[in-house]
Amino acid sequence: MRTAMELAEHGQFTAAPNPLVGCVIVSKACRIIGQGWHKAYGGPHAEVEAFESIAPEDKALLSESTWYVTLEPCNHEGKTPACAALIERIKPKRVVIGMMDSNPAVTGGGMERLRRAGVAVEEGCLAGELAWQNRRFFWNAHEKRPWVVLKWAESSDGFMDGRPSARRLPGAGGFPITSEAARPMTHAWRALEQGIAVGAGTALIDEPQLNVRSIEAPSPRIILLDPDGCIGSKHTLLLRNPSLIHVIGETFATTATHTCAWRVSEGLDVLLERLYAQFNLSSLLIEGGASVLNDFLKQGAWNEVKRWTSPVAIGSGLPAPALPEGTLPLPDGRASAGRAGEDSWQNRLHPRHAFD
Ligand SMILES: [Zn+2]
Repeated sequence: MRTAMELAEHGQFTAAPNPLVGCVIVSKACRIIGQGWHKAYGGPHAEVEAFESIAPEDKALLSESTWYVTLEPCNHEGKTPACAALIERIKPKRVVIGMMDSNPAVTGGGMERLRRAGVAVEEGCLAGELAWQNRRFFWNAHEKRPWVVLKWAESSDGFMDGRPSARRLPGAGGFPITSEAARPMTHAWRALEQGIAVGAGTALIDEPQLNVRSIEAPSPRIILLDPDGCIGSKHTLLLRNPSLIHVIGETFATTATHTCAWRVSEGLDVLLERLYAQFNLSSLLIEGGASVLNDFLKQGAWNEVKRWTSPVAIGSGLPAPALPEGTLPLPDGRASAGRAGEDSWQNRLHPRHAFD
């Protein structure tokens, strides 16, 4: 199951909004004869990938095989045929399931189908670790909203920008807090989430690109939080990113193809529900600025915080948000802090998330 979980991780940049799933098929003599993972949304499921990886001469071993699947095999025809139907047809000796499907409408269906077909089924193997691996997926299923990661960088004395507000003018450009060494990790943080959001102020002043450049991974979809309609149609984010979602009050006009109507007074819970319902966004990285981050913190509309701290003090400027009280470290001994060059990072969870 651990091997299956490691395989599942290969889909970390591409599977969303689908879950990460891995599958390992083991012969009666305990040899791995097939393995696979869910590579991309809409593509073949892990069970199918694993089945298709089996060498022709090993096909005869299938009837005595054990399948280790990190998530309950699906029992519904979606973009691909049901995996439970495939396994039912092969009828292996045993199937070990890591976690049951999170969707209350279908949970247990795949397992029942296999049992009825005479396959021995066990479930709950490494369930705690798998709940963490698919935290976005399970959160989506239960809460009908994206998993939200707040991200910022601050100086050693707690500022995000050393410039006085009079010098934070449109087009002034970003104010780098971290060094070049922090960039690959910052970009990996972006690639892990399906969407990346910034407020209109940050878009106007910093003109950030918000893409993934220093690692080999797809860029997230940009969400521009502009409820007061401050961003004109000539802004580079709008011109360069046809998939951008412009969140804008319904009384304002935009040239964006994808829009989400929202007013600040409706609250962030409503925005998140709307983004999920309209765009199936499984997760969102909030890159700023400070007032947007503070709004998400104040309204409790977040799941993780990722924060860089530079060793340099800048004395004055725009104060960084305060890390809330009671945040939790990542589960299972995963690193909740580390360094890149001179900069250090922290990754903390909302107090509601106890994974065990
Ligand atoms: Zn499936």
